[in-house]
Amino acid sequence: MTLGKWRSNRLDELGSSIFAEVIQWKKEARASGMNVIDLDIGSPDKPPSAAVMETISAAALNPKQYGYMGTRGSDAFRQTAAEWMAFRFGVQVDPEAELLSLMGSQDGLAHLAMAICNPGDEVLLPNPGYPIYAGSLAIAGVKPIFYPLTAENGFLPDVEAITEEQWRRATFILLNYPGNPVSTVADMALFELVLEKARKHDVLVINDAAYSEMAFDGFVPPSILAADGGMERAIEIHSLSKSYNMAGCRIGFVTGNREAVGALRELKDNIDYGIFSVVQEAGVAALKEAMSPSAPPKAGRLYEQRRDVFVQALQANGWQVEKPRATMFLWAALPDMAWAHPDGPWTSRLIARELLEQTGVAIIPGEAFGSEGEGYVRLALVMEEERLLEAAERIGRFIRGEARVQQHSAT
Ligand SMILES: *Cc1c(COP(=O)(O)O)cnc(C)c1O
Repeated sequence: MTLGKWRSNRLDELGSSIFAEVIQWKKEARASGMNVIDLDIGSPDKPPSAAVMETISAAALNPKQYGYMGTRGSDAFRQTAAEWMAFRFGVQVDPEAELLSLMGSQDGLAHLAMAICNPGDEVLLPNPGYPIYAGSLAIAGVKPIFYPLTAENGFLPDVEAITEEQWRRATFILLNYPGNPVSTVADMALFELVLEKARKHDVLVINDAAYSEMAFDGFVPPSILAADGGMERAIEIHSLSKSYNMAGCRIGFVTGNREAVGALRELKDNIDYGIFSVVQEAGVAALKEAMSPSAPPKAGRLYEQRRDVFVQALQANGWQVEKPRATMFLWAALPDMAWAHPDGPWTSRLIARELLEQTGVAIIPGEAFGSEGEGYVRLALVMEEERLLEAAERIGRFIRGEARVQQHSAT
């Protein structure tokens, strides 16, 4: 057999193998009888609202809902999404030319570079960053220029540290606020600073706003499109997955600069024939409900409570993690371990592996999101408080070296 005959080398550049490794570790832990607590995945654990599920249920029984929909999305969905942009951010967009429905933001993110760049172009990406950002470039033969998100700069891009040369070479810069895996937020001032640089060097700005409805402590994430000149120079990608617990439905949209939105539409016209109409109706229901006086609490409410409970419990167990201001993740510097591991100094990967093996708590090593992620791990708040408290207990025993002792004495 010739290895690699029917498998593109390009696939090696997609994402990190660490995610697959974590899945394998979990399998082994479960096989050994471990009760695993999944804090690794970023999938909301709650269902959508009753209104959304009732819409899906009724629409699914309508025999007219099963035809091709067309790439750009139903008029009703685009119109409602445009209304939501105005309601939520005070941004006016033309639902015909400046807004396109997506099969989740992943669809838009994966196809971005192919639609917007030529092979050999370069693009500014955050490190650490959500894996498909680099994956999208790999598919399109586009080169990343990574800008670091470090603790020294509050995990925000140091816009001045990106050189003139890098700005000049870049076709676009990708931002992700509120962010994953680094759960920081951006204010309008940061957006305006980036836009100013981008204008100077004729660079497009893209903001992945998947967590716009998951912010805490009263913070309301702004849209980059509301910044001065945002509509001319930026596009923003929105998702109903996290905002309305609709991750499996696959629906979101991109809006902003019409040339960039149009390019993505042209590409997608050749790839897919649109989102299932039942899902688009559900999307309309979710957005309309969010704009109604009887809107349910924002998705952030639940995660804010969990954050408070979990952070306090982790701190009580000897891990001084920071409180994020948004998203469903803790981005935590490695704890001060009370014991040494025979395999060498603690790395994010070693900690994640040992924690899972000894206690059954599954987390993601920071290096899965890029080289700057080393020294950190990501914990997802996707379990009920009771399970989070249990996880904090186990993590405490692990840090103190008691989990190891128990495990060994048990065998
Ligand atoms: C979950 C997530 C997405 C993808 O969401 P979908 O809309 O479900 O495709 C995009 N960006 C970030 C940062 C995410 O965490």
